Amino acid sequence: MPSSPSTNPRTARNILTGLRSIMASRGNAQAKLNQVVDRIAEAVNSEVCSIYLRRDGLLELFATHGLNPEAVHVTKLAMGEGLTGFIAKNVETLNLDEAASHPDFQYRPETGEEKFHSFAGVPIIRNQRAIGVLCAQHVDPRRYSEEEIEAFQTAAMVLSELIGNADLVDDSLIENNNLQDAGADRLSGLQLVKGKASGYAVFHQPRVKIEHTVADDTEAERHRVYSAFDKMRDQIDQMTSQAEFGVAGEHIEVLETYKMFAYDEGWSRRINEAIDSGLTAEAAIERVQQHTRMRMRQIDDPLLAERMHDLEDLANRLLRIVSGQMSTAAQMGLRKDTILIARNLGPAELLEYDRRRLKGLVLEEGSLTAHVTIIARAMGIPILGRVKNIKQFVREDDHLLLNVDENILFVRPSSAMEEAFQAQLELSQKKRETYSALRDQDAVSKDGTRVIVNINAGLRDDMAMLNLTGADGIGLFRTEFQFLVAATLPGRTGQLRFYKDVLEAAGDKPVIFRTVDIGGDKPLPYFQPSDIQEDNPAMGWRALRIGLERDALMKVQARSLIEAAAGKTLNVMFPMVAEPWEFDEARAVFEQQLAFLRSRKKQLPLKLRYGAMLEVPALAECLDVLAPRLDFLSIGTNDLTQFLFAADRSNPKLAERFDWLSPAILRFLKRISDTAARLDIDLSVCGEMGGRPLDALALIGLGIRNLSITPASVGPIKAMIRSVDVSEAAALLDNVLAEAPANPRDIISNWAKAHNVDVG
Ligand code: PEP
Ligand code: MG
Repeated sequence: MPSSPSTNPRTARNILTGLRSIMASRGNAQAKLNQVVDRIAEAVNSEVCSIYLRRDGLLELFATHGLNPEAVHVTKLAMGEGLTGFIAKNVETLNLDEAASHPDFQYRPETGEEKFHSFAGVPIIRNQRAIGVLCAQHVDPRRYSEEEIEAFQTAAMVLSELIGNADLVDDSLIENNNLQDAGADRLSGLQLVKGKASGYAVFHQPRVKIEHTVADDTEAERHRVYSAFDKMRDQIDQMTSQAEFGVAGEHIEVLETYKMFAYDEGWSRRINEAIDSGLTAEAAIERVQQHTRMRMRQIDDPLLAERMHDLEDLANRLLRIVSGQMSTAAQMGLRKDTILIARNLGPAELLEYDRRRLKGLVLEEGSLTAHVTIIARAMGIPILGRVKNIKQFVREDDHLLLNVDENILFVRPSSAMEEAFQAQLELSQKKRETYSALRDQDAVSKDGTRVIVNINAGLRDDMAMLNLTGADGIGLFRTEFQFLVAATLPGRTGQLRFYKDVLEAAGDKPVIFRTVDIGGDKPLPYFQPSDIQEDNPAMGWRALRIGLERDALMKVQARSLIEAAAGKTLNVMFPMVAEPWEFDEARAVFEQQLAFLRSRKKQLPLKLRYGAMLEVPALAECLDVLAPRLDFLSIGTNDLTQFLFAADRSNPKLAERFDWLSPAILRFLKRISDTAARLDIDLSVCGEMGGRPLDALALIGLGIRNLSITPASVGPIKAMIRSVDVSEAAALLDNVLAEAPANPRDIISNWAKAHNVDVG
């Protein structure tokens, strides 16, 4: 049985020239399709060339050269049925020397196709969905050559434009979000922010829609691609040299692959060849990408699949550059009920989205204590992280059910799944109602211990949460969030007005303002903090380290805060204090401003209280030195744990590696808690750990009596505290600390169950 590649020398250019004149000719769409199949059959020297298009949910034979003409508009296949259905369903190319050998082969007698052995078919794609299939059949059992397959793909691309313009397929059918043909998928990930949402997929970086496939001027298209390649390579080089690249979660491996692909001569050559065949720059990039996708799919290697994903990203970047469609979904206006899909997001990027429309977030990377996660948690937006290769499974506008409570994302759910999900949503709603009933109840344990439950905030909208949750106050106001949402460095007047508004909104409840903590995973686009490349920005020049050196920044903030708190108590807290002198210097900046304002006879705060965050372990060794000058201390468990475990909090590879309920963390916290009690230091915990009921139970057992948490956690944490006996929890924790078991989480969880403690 001969299986040698075809010796047919005709190229895609040949086909495209023909298609171009057919498209430009007069006549109706059907007549054009008839000419197209004739032309392609002739070009690849095939007995048969047919076009199937989707109509009323089925694939209908629309035009054929070589099959029985009576079968046109008669032969119809369901998605997934036969080889044609297989291609459309999987959006995949087939090239078979013996069609009958394929498990999905089906024979349609009315077409008279029994005599043909070889079969090749490519999907006709529009908006990432198959709207039809272009196929060729041959009597000889031979495989089509790569060149011919590429020519089919080129033709399919042009056909998609022709079909779209002629309204030959029902667009609503293609756009229908409940498309069953692709089947429901269930993807799993890592729980970053709990919650459930039903909505529609929107890509943070939308895929470029290709409007024109046939070029008017090949040289101009070539020039466009060359300059897009230059720009893309520049961008990749820049990303490599940027300090924050690492902390954004895109790790070195990805970067290396990006670079390798970006500079791959083979890739640019193939795009160039596709342009030679007469395609526009956009169509050429997409055509090459389709072909690569097909080849990669045939290689069953997970490592290559990962690489494919990087190449997809890069091809999309190139497409975005060449087409000038550079905006993110945030700038393009969101649809209602959006579930946003991204590889990763920075905190500022998330804040650009309209939070009323954003129902959920799915990240391919992401980690629990990255600032984007913290902000989403505060905004009540559920996030599922670490969902691998999501772009292979989800298409723009797909209906999604996001259930982060169970770490699942359902893609294109069936109506039964949707119903079950709605029932779960109602249950969660009921639970929320129970929690909101605790709004006016204090967090007092069964044995009468009062725990302060504050919230973490940072945006103007967060202030409403104070009353909604019934929290005792704001234990951490992240002032840098205001800097993140601004286009330029906020000045004194703007800051003063904002802090005044915050204090006004808080009324009698206390607010602890943390001075700016920029750097690390919160780079400001308009402020280049470091003139050197930082390999470890989280441990680098950030937070108070910047504040003390660029003291103009800190002076402006100090003055604004002091003026805003005229006649009230001002609580300020310094982040990342490692040694007592840093606290002293920061305090001196405030004292100077205070003296200055006093000399100007300005009204001053009634009281100024100074606190430090304990995030750098070194500070724990010098608390006795600091205690006499310190009004309060707040443990930032997010940073503290990253430094204790030497595990970057933004690195998705480490996202699941360490547990807050580990003996090392618990022992460390216990030591601080005991020291603070001995030195009479007012102590709280303001990291994310305190917002998780089981972890908060452990903190209470360690002696912590003041938590500052994300607003959504206030109800669950109050419920936990009100159902626990603090002295029993202390005994449990003493045991855990003494025995240092391998699985403290299980032990504490079983204990909570056995003692009817409500841990959600
Ligand atoms: C922390 O590090 O625990 C903390 C509360 O501060 P941030 O998360 O803003 O770094
Ligand atoms: Mg911190």
